[in-house]
Amino acid sequence: MIIGVDDTDSRAGMCTTYLCAVLVDELKQRGYGDVSTPRLVRLNPCIPFKTRGNGAVSFEIRIAMGKEEQVKELVKARVRELSEVHEEDTNPGVVFIDDSALRAMFRGDSDEKALTGLAGSWGRAPQNECIVKLKTFYETTVRDVLAIEDAYALISELHFDYFGLKKKRGIIGALAAASFLVVQKREPTFYDFTYELMAYREKERWGTVRLIDEASVWKADAATYPLTWDTVDLANKKLVLAPHSPCPVLFGIRGESVDALYKAYKLIRAEPAELEMVFVTNQGTDFHLITGEEAVGTLHDYHSYILDGVVDSEPRTIEGGHVVFALSLSEEILGCIECIAYEPTKGFRDYIRKLWVGDEVTVYGSFKNRTINLEKIALRKLNVEVQRNPICDKCGKSMESAGRSQGYRCKRCKTYRSEKEVLIVDREIEEGLYEAPPVARRHIAKPLIRACMEGGTNHLHPSR
Ligand code: ATP
Repeated sequence: MIIGVDDTDSRAGMCTTYLCAVLVDELKQRGYGDVSTPRLVRLNPCIPFKTRGNGAVSFEIRIAMGKEEQVKELVKARVRELSEVHEEDTNPGVVFIDDSALRAMFRGDSDEKALTGLAGSWGRAPQNECIVKLKTFYETTVRDVLAIEDAYALISELHFDYFGLKKKRGIIGALAAASFLVVQKREPTFYDFTYELMAYREKERWGTVRLIDEASVWKADAATYPLTWDTVDLANKKLVLAPHSPCPVLFGIRGESVDALYKAYKLIRAEPAELEMVFVTNQGTDFHLITGEEAVGTLHDYHSYILDGVVDSEPRTIEGGHVVFALSLSEEILGCIECIAYEPTKGFRDYIRKLWVGDEVTVYGSFKNRTINLEKIALRKLNVEVQRNPICDKCGKSMESAGRSQGYRCKRCKTYRSEKEVLIVDREIEEGLYEAPPVARRHIAKPLIRACMEGGTNHLHPSR
């Protein structure tokens, strides 16, 4: 059975990943069956009713015959007990994909594979309709905005079981997390993924200052970076592995391999952890971004895009230290938008300040009120031409305008030129892809160091 859970926490406490870790641990301890590595999916980062990182969780349990109802009751009991239901915006949801539903789904899938002889090929084989629907649901939940009715419709169509409290909005995230696991079960590498090792605090310490030895974190980072990333922010000299909220999370170590996570974990000295759990996750993958072509002619608020365009105004720093410029989009129908690098992106703003009108760029980020909140920017073609008044051949001084559209002249030497001069200049910035630093990075945003490790070192400027 696959179980998805979401929306159990609030800003005042709890964390859905903690509830998941408690459940996985308890189900294993009680011998209900083998439990998979849980999944932590980050959904649309622009959703207004998220608590923090719009995360949802899922896991699979191979349950001994006849124990399914007991497992469901245990899950429901823990959700009732641990959710922050007294908080207005907490609306827990759980989705159960029973073994019978899974068997039907995967049996159909292998029949189709056998028929076509194209085992495992998503690209070519006609795919099992149910799995494709779940795949689409997951992808839509990361990139788009859904209504709770969308989740109910699919749950009912596929005969899944569910449970919820209050408005039950968590059903959306729970179904998305379960769907991600179904797709990975069919093809483990279909989606890019990373890992996070979460350590949780002892209950008595929740809400108190976290005791984490800073020096040990720097050491752990030095020993494992870049196989672990976003543990510290080197440029801003900050630890970024621990939240500042009263939630049960002590810290999380993100990275490429479970071995690297544990190596870092063993080097960190901190207050005792009550529990730790490794999650497979879509963090650090940029899966939320929609390309200009996929946007099909319209940009929508609460969506995140990758858009090509030309810088249309000098960048300016506005109140609060945010840096803004206008971008004329390459797909003309999409028009002109604003781009903003917020103050918390710190040194990233220095790159933005160096942009010139005419630079060809690609911007990455979330869209709202015709403004992209910049997560990354690719400087594709820098404008290296500067126009200036011509220089007089005789005296070597700058010529003056002879009036609107009347060319330039040197008063002293009486020389005349019709056009401005175009100079080719060196720019203070190189072409390539730049990113906001870890202190300002969204969970789902892909750190450039990952792209470097994939072999794409050309024109990549990771923040570290
Ligand atoms: P945390 O990261 O600390 O677990 P959170 O930021 O995940 O908290 P939630 O409390 O889970 O926030 O609230 C997010 C709510 O938004 C959930 O009810 C989830 O079902 C719903 N949701 C997530 N993605 C979408 C989407 N694309 N469209 C509509 N609702 C969504």
